Amino acid sequence: MHQYPEVSFEDRMSTVDFQVGERPHITVDTEICRSCTTKACVPACPAKLFVPTGDGGILFNYEQCFECGTCYQICNSAGAITWTYPDGGHGVVFRKG
Ligand code: SF4
Ligand code: SF4
Repeated sequence: MHQYPEVSFEDRMSTVDFQVGERPHITVDTEICRSCTTKACVPACPAKLFVPTGDGGILFNYEQCFECGTCYQICNSAGAITWTYPDGGHGVVFRKG
């Protein structure tokens, strides 16, 4: 069986480009997040884009999103996350090596 070498998260990140679109492809209704008890998106996002604030809210930054969809799957509050694909030519670009 082919063995893949261990690649650290940091090394993997260095092979990724982000073509940041002007229009956020994910928006978060932070009013809904305020009453969310689990904040499941915080540990779930591999890019750590959901940041809890001291007053029980959430800060979200779409610019380094991998478009993995985990947050959308894991969020327990209907309507909190609105997901679309980035506009053409924008979003994450994976390179080899
Ligand atoms: S899990 Fe959903 S509702 Fe809860 S903080 Fe995260 S995005 Fe907001
Ligand atoms: S799609 Fe993935 S990388 Fe993007 S915000 Fe959601 S969990 Fe984070």
